[in-house]
Amino acid sequence: MKKLVCAGEILVEIMAERIGQSFRAPGPLVGPFPSGAPAIFIDQAARLGQPAGLIAAVGDDDFGHLNIERLRADGADISAITVHQGAATGTAFVTYESDGSRHFVYNIKQSAAGLIEMGAEARVLLAGADHFHVMGTSLFSPEVIEIARNGIEAVKTRGGTVSFDPNIRKEMLDLPGMRDALHFVLSKTDVFLPSGAELFTFADATDEESAVREMLDRGISTIVVKKGAQGAVHYDQSGRTALPGFVVEEIDPTGAGDCFAAAFVSFWLRGEAPEKALRIANGCGALAVTKKGPMEGIASLVTVEAFIETARTGAL
Ligand code: ATP
Repeated sequence: MKKLVCAGEILVEIMAERIGQSFRAPGPLVGPFPSGAPAIFIDQAARLGQPAGLIAAVGDDDFGHLNIERLRADGADISAITVHQGAATGTAFVTYESDGSRHFVYNIKQSAAGLIEMGAEARVLLAGADHFHVMGTSLFSPEVIEIARNGIEAVKTRGGTVSFDPNIRKEMLDLPGMRDALHFVLSKTDVFLPSGAELFTFADATDEESAVREMLDRGISTIVVKKGAQGAVHYDQSGRTALPGFVVEEIDPTGAGDCFAAAFVSFWLRGEAPEKALRIANGCGALAVTKKGPMEGIASLVTVEAFIETARTGAL
């Protein structure tokens, strides 16, 4: 089976227990939960039985080991996660508003995540990779951008493939080297996975069909537009496939996009038809939101297949 690799931040999330609770006052917390978009992505792929490895850095502390143990237990390749003494694993503290919005207090840039490097273990991992996944949020430093370039070049040289989940916040576009990096990533992307309006950050057109046509004309073979609870739409040169999402009670939306992307890419790499890959991805995205904690709802293949058998779909 094809092996996929991703690089970026590992952190833990600690959450306010109650909706509406503010960090301007002491209150009950839940967590720590393992997190970090690349870790969520790799863990979900591994749970579906896809060979998957992560390039990352953690501190030699309980938070770092919590993440490593979760990834190891779920079958991910952790050989390129470096552990640094004297550095702290990143944290994100999260509060939830009654309208469903979330607020974060982050400590990531100054954390061990910033020590990520293209070391010997990362080179070995990339030498055995067939697919490299890039996420916009993880391009937070020149070092990670360089690793992404290395990863893309390593897999492409051997005839492998690249996927890209942009997840770009506007303020990130002005970081040094970011526009060049995005241009490079897009020029090498086979599978593009924007959510909703993110599609228009990279296209001149203002309607979905024309924006998709622009991206297909640039050589991207597969585009999947994620639409939250509504589901997702797949486009390639042979047409459009839309699949409504599954109806679940949303407890915590964090991680849905990464679980969806990991499931879609895993089944795309297996050569499955778009409809099957979308269905499994919608199932993994839906299950991801049913538990508090970004990685707590990650489903195995058996679990997601059983869920899909009985779950109801909404409207797209
Ligand atoms: P995030 O950045 O918050 O991880 P995203 O914006 O990249 O997410 P979404 O479109 O929110 O991605 O979610 C990805 C997929 O997960 C959706 O296409 C859908 O299949 C599933 N999903 C997300 N939220 C829900 C929900 N409330 N109910 C059912 N399925 C959901």
